[in-house]
Amino acid sequence: MSGISFEFFPPRSNEASDVLQETVDILAAFQPAFQSVTFGASGSQRNGTLETAISLQSRTGIPAASHLTYTGSEVKDVQEFADQLWDAGVKRLVALRGDNRKDGSVQNPFADTPEFVSALKSCHPFEIAVACYPEVHPKAKSREADIAVLKAKQDAGATSAITQFFFDNSLFYEFVEEVREAGITIPLVPGILPIHNFEKVKTMAKECGTSIPDHVEEAFSEARILGTNETEIAAELLKAQVHDLACAGFESIHIYTLNRAPLASIAAGAFLAAHESKLNVEEEKKVA
Ligand code: FAD
Repeated sequence: MSGISFEFFPPRSNEASDVLQETVDILAAFQPAFQSVTFGASGSQRNGTLETAISLQSRTGIPAASHLTYTGSEVKDVQEFADQLWDAGVKRLVALRGDNRKDGSVQNPFADTPEFVSALKSCHPFEIAVACYPEVHPKAKSREADIAVLKAKQDAGATSAITQFFFDNSLFYEFVEEVREAGITIPLVPGILPIHNFEKVKTMAKECGTSIPDHVEEAFSEARILGTNETEIAAELLKAQVHDLACAGFESIHIYTLNRAPLASIAAGAFLAAHESKLNVEEEKKVA
């Protein structure tokens, strides 16, 4: 089992389902620690998440993690969903607040995400990951408040935190330092987003508060001018990012696959290779 995890979303058509199965089969070769399935905003696509998580787990034998959000749900829905997962053998969750509905209405059955994590833990002894934000959640009162919420999620029983996607590793390293100083000890797993379409990623990054470093912006501008394939640029950036993370000692990454295999494979392969060569160097140093 590797330190890789892959994230998928539930397919919405037979064709999309075939693509997902093919992707999952290709990525299974990396022996991921788990594969997670996202949860539709406000509880939509609930069944899609459940079915997909169960089917991925039984198809590959790799543990599935179901994302679960509470905004827009009721306590009984959350409990029912947690029971269905547990009974089907899905023992991992990524527990999240979820975003408010587009119409602005908010229905929150839990006071906050730490309370949600505690409630899930008391339903069943799930392994629970939560989200964290190296560049601060856009709705957080402050960086300190954001980190305090993460600490409360750890105290409520979360055993790891997956980051929002980022492209500037130095910001992640600063975040890790601050988080450790705040007494947070759970593993922080870098969330890696392959860039399939730079313009779309720029829009998403703006919404999420993720910065686009100059070297990334410049690489894609140059590709446009020279007519270079964007995928080649994305692959080089990914390799450099995950290599740096492995060399900095991070043992796990979570790859937002968008249900596509090629760039996710490149990221996983590069991370594992860098991790292994780091271990070999350390071993050689011990022997010398
Ligand atoms: P919290 O831990 O509650 O909050 C994080 C920070 O944001 C805190 O500082 C908190 O105070 C602040 N904050 C967030 N929302 C508010 C608010 N409404 N009012 C005041 N402060 C607020 N979303 C989905 O719908 N489905 C998914 O499957 C999904 N998967 C995700 C996986 C990962 C790894 C990540 C990073 C995000 C994912 N999201 C998903 C998005 C997530 O639901 C949003 O980022 C959400 O806004 C915050 O969720 P959280 O659990 O981090 O919130």
